[in-house]
Order: sequence, then structure tokens, then C-alpha cells
Amino acid sequence: MAQHLTTDVVIVGAGFAGLSAADQLTAQGYGVVVLEGRSRVGGRSFGGEIAGVPIDLGAAWVGARHPELLELAQRFDCATLPQYHEGKNVLNLGGRRSTYRSDIPPVSPITLLDMGRVKYALDRLTSTVDLETPWKTPNAHALDAMTFGDWLRRKRATAKTRALMETISKVQWGCPSDEVSMLHVLTGMRALGGLDHMLAVEGGVEQDRFAVSLHQIAVRLAASLGDRVLTDTAVRRIEQDADGITIHTDGPSVQGRRVLVATAASQSARVLRAFTSRPSVLTLRSSRATAGRCTPKSSSG
Ligand SMILES: Cc1cc2nc3c(=O)[nH]c(=O)nc-3n(C[C@H](O)[C@H](O)[C@H](O)COP(=O)(O)OP(=O)(O)OC[C@H]3O[C@@H](n4cnc5c(N)ncnc54)[C@H](O)[C@@H]3O)c2cc1C
Repeated sequence: MAQHLTTDVVIVGAGFAGLSAADQLTAQGYGVVVLEGRSRVGGRSFGGEIAGVPIDLGAAWVGARHPELLELAQRFDCATLPQYHEGKNVLNLGGRRSTYRSDIPPVSPITLLDMGRVKYALDRLTSTVDLETPWKTPNAHALDAMTFGDWLRRKRATAKTRALMETISKVQWGCPSDEVSMLHVLTGMRALGGLDHMLAVEGGVEQDRFAVSLHQIAVRLAASLGDRVLTDTAVRRIEQDADGITIHTDGPSVQGRRVLVATAASQSARVLRAFTSRPSVLTLRSSRATAGRCTPKSSSG
């Protein structure tokens, strides 16, 4: 017979968001169960080894704007090292690789101007984001209804600028620019201190890396949560009624008072579609922007 578990909060996803939420809820005395579809924890952080040396194959860098991650690193004894960044920069744009020494990439003056123009527009829009309540940002609804790709087309970004933004979108939001909400992109940029800061090494978000691996922090955090974390347990269906939530997985079903979906923005749409009833807080509309949408259907922005 299938196992049935009961708890206060069921968390979908054992990446840093899910594990940190579980950690904080546990510290406040709540019962939690974390359901992870993969056979490992850490999500977009993932560790590997080259010639016996541990390396990060996903998220790797940390900067001063990551206070929560640095706190976890200290707690789980994962020391940081400065990122080596002497020598030439390497640019792979539209399949063409080039190297350069200055801060200015070796592209044509027209491309450079266009990148500057688009970046200026992005920075201006980023500064309007309400970080605590992004759905209250001016024009939140319209920004959430369009994709980052839609916005780049609207700005008439050239092919080279688009190629650069496409790389940023895939690395930062885990999906192509045509799949992520523009409001989600702007909120992420605001949280990370703007595009320049996001791409910088010294003083930026790529200032340091971890002596062992960033992934180790997730592994150690999950270990501290013990059997509250279940791997190989993909969530298939979420039922919500007046009594609470029932989560159906390939393994046990779990009943809770609340569910916290902590998957990547690009996976949230699929997980939220697993709701058999209408979620009380968040409702996705049909749109190409499947990743990271946050404005409710009836919101006027
Ligand atoms: C290549 C790459 C490099 C990056 N580099 C950096 C960096 O250097 N520094 C940095 O700070 N950030 C970096 N990032 C971003 C960082 O990895 C993410 O912001 C962070 O890991 C997101 O954590 P999360 O918990 O929100 O989501 P995730 O890590 O994506 O975790 C979500 C979890 O949900 C699980 N899941 C999804 N659907 C289901 C389901 N139906 N049932 C059960 N489980 C499910 C997934 O398997 C996953 O484990 C990078 C990202 C990428 C892709």
C-alpha cells in the first residue's frame, strides 16, 4: 500500500530555495516534508570532479549581495576563495569566439552602441521594480504578460545584442528569453544590483567561489534536515480543498496545511498545472511567458 505522510508544510523542490525554506520553517517549529524529483538535492547547483578535484557544474560564484548564501556557507564550513580573473576575456557571441583584454568586447561600433542602448533601457526599467512586492511595480501586469524576448524585439535589439541577452537568460533564468516573464527578469536584475553587477567579478556577484563546491552547501543543508527530504519523489498532482493540500507523487502521498512550490521559474508552470483545483494565491494565465510569472489574473498591476 502507498505510504501516506502528514505535515504542516509540503515543499516541492530541494534546490536552495526549498531547502532554505525547510530549514527556516523547521527552526520555527513547523513540520515540513521536502519532495525532490531528482535523485539528488541542490537543483541548479551540482557538483562534479575533474582529476579528483571537486568542481561546480552549475552555480559556482558568490558575492557580497549573497548574504544568505554566505551565512549558510559559514554555518556548514564551506570556505570561499577569490575568483581568478587575470588575463584575457573570452567572448562567444553567435557561435564566434574572440578574446580581449579591456572591459569593452571586440564587437563593431554599431553593436556596441546597440548593446549600450538596450542595457540603458534595461537598467532604467530595473530601477522601477518594487523588490519586496514585484507585482506592485509600475506596469507590473504588462511586464509580466510579456517575455524578455518580446521586450528585446520591441526595443529592436540587433541580432548580436539578442545573442548576448539570450546567453544571460539561459544562465540566469534557466530558459530562453522567449519563455521568461519580463517582470521576473527585472526583479532578478534588481535583486542582484543591475546588469553590470551581475556580470562583474571584483565587487560583483562572481567575486568568490567555494574551496570545495557550492553544491556541498546544499548537500550539508539537506543532511541537517534528515529524513524530511525525500529524493526521487517527483510531484505529479496537487489537490487543494478546505482541509488543506494533498500532494501525489510517484512514491508517498503527502498531506499538509500549506504547499510551497520552490522549483525553477521554468518548471513552476508545469508544477502549478498539477493543481487539480485553482490555487488560492497564484493563477497562471495562458501565455508564452511560462517562467516566473507572478501577477494574479485579476490584478490591475
Ligand atoms: C549554469 C548555471 C550557473 C549558475 N551560476 C550561478 C552562480 O555562479 N551563482 C549564483 O548565485 N547563482 C547561479 N545560478 C543560479 C542559481 O543556480 C539558482 O538561482 C539557484 O540554484 C536556484 O535555486 P532554486 O532552489 O530556486 O531552484 P532550483 O535549484 O532549480 O531547484 C528546484 C528544484 O525543484 C525540483 N523540481 C522541479 N519540478 C519538480 C517536481 N514536479 N517535483 C519535485 N521536484 C521538482 C528540481 O529537480 C530542483 O531540484 C546559475 C544557474 C545556472 C543554470
